[in-house]
Amino acid sequence: MSFSELGLANEIVRAVTEQGYSAPTPIQAQAIPAVLCGGDLLAGAQTGTGKTAGFTLPLLQRLSAKSPAAGGARPVRALVLTPTRELAAQVEDSVRTYGKYLKLKSAVIFGGVNINPQIKLLASGVDILVATPGRLLDHLQQGTINLSHVEILVLDEADRMLDMGFIRDIRRILAILPKQRQNLLFSATFSDEIKALADGLLNSPAMIEVARRNSTVEVIDQKIHPVDRNRKHPLLAHLIKSQNWTQVLVFTRTKHGANKLVEQLGKDGITAMAIHGNKSQSARTRALSEFKDGSLQVLVATDIAARGIDIDQLPHVVNYDLPNVPEDYVHRIGRTGRAGATGEAVSLVCVDEHDMLKGIEKLIKRSLPQEVVPGFEPDPNARPQPIQLRSNMPPARNGRRQGNPAGKQERQHAAPQPGAAKAPHKNPGKAGPLPAAASTAKRPAAKPPATKAQAPQRSAGRGR
Ligand code: AMP
Repeated sequence: MSFSELGLANEIVRAVTEQGYSAPTPIQAQAIPAVLCGGDLLAGAQTGTGKTAGFTLPLLQRLSAKSPAAGGARPVRALVLTPTRELAAQVEDSVRTYGKYLKLKSAVIFGGVNINPQIKLLASGVDILVATPGRLLDHLQQGTINLSHVEILVLDEADRMLDMGFIRDIRRILAILPKQRQNLLFSATFSDEIKALADGLLNSPAMIEVARRNSTVEVIDQKIHPVDRNRKHPLLAHLIKSQNWTQVLVFTRTKHGANKLVEQLGKDGITAMAIHGNKSQSARTRALSEFKDGSLQVLVATDIAARGIDIDQLPHVVNYDLPNVPEDYVHRIGRTGRAGATGEAVSLVCVDEHDMLKGIEKLIKRSLPQEVVPGFEPDPNARPQPIQLRSNMPPARNGRRQGNPAGKQERQHAAPQPGAAKAPHKNPGKAGPLPAAASTAKRPAAKPPATKAQAPQRSAGRGR
């Protein structure tokens, strides 16, 4: 199967060929024809499957087939919502790359940066807008954007948007969009909340699910290194040095833990930077670009900040701490072995994390091989201690944190009690299957385009 056989225009096929893609991935092979038909889509696809091109390519084709009304600024005709700034930037980058031979204009808007250049950009006319919900609502409130011509809406990583507490923001945005539109919903997992959102949003959607749900990508070599909790840092430094790892993405559970590790690695002569919600957007962008171009050896990230990180053939992912939500393990290691490349994911696991490991193995339906590194043998008599699941910051209203200069939120986890790691994930419906039958249309009531007067109210302190 080739891209042209899927019915894509020559300009688009040429752009993907230049990217070195020889054939569509399974999600692309199914999603592209479905989206080209103009219907709604509910797609279950994990990160790394090529889902971005799965919606971007047909979206570009549909928009370019119909030129915008002559005269005046070009209205936004496609809106893509993503949970994080990094993912938004990355998706828009893909839109540019795949649409380079088309006459469509795209833009990305997210918080943590000056709004004024975005206002100018929007005023100059944009066909495809990629946005995070919070900043989009800011623009709607200020009347600096008009969404009354949106023909296609994409909710990317919808499960993560809900996890991050964006549901009310999303509903406000949906209420403003024109009733007649094509809706595409992408999600890695299907909780009851996602099913409810899909039910209200999608009209007899095509349903696609690729890769086993919550299965870890087969090409990733996964391994556990059992180690004592206070020897994780020396073990990581040892692995990086002895195995000559040049590009390593390391996950910590907390922002504080990320900062501390960066400091410790620096003392070992290993260049590392942290990326998390307390960092300014410019620091995050810099860390990511240095990591991508290979000048930064280690990027230490928390789960939310790492969403959307896509680096071709990232060779090493390290779980310095195991995530307390098992699904995050799948998201984390999805950073490596992307689109057919091989990768290695190692987890440094201490006695406190044994229950978390059990939860992960249950989710991915396999037990992970364990390998003790000589010189780092764990103490067999060590007793588990309660785990600190979050940084020492007060929770904000609406489940958001305060004291966050980047306006960036991190996912809230239940405050731990001693032994709390044993508690099952609070959302057991998360890994449920795709809804069995196509839902009937129950779209939100149509509202006229946003104006200053009737733009939606944002809740105070929302992440953007
Ligand atoms: P995504 O799941 O959309 O984040 O994509 C993961 C990675 O796969 C990105 O680095 C894409 O550039 C790459 N990719 C997307 N489609 C293809 C394809 N058909 N063949 C090879 N690589 C692809």
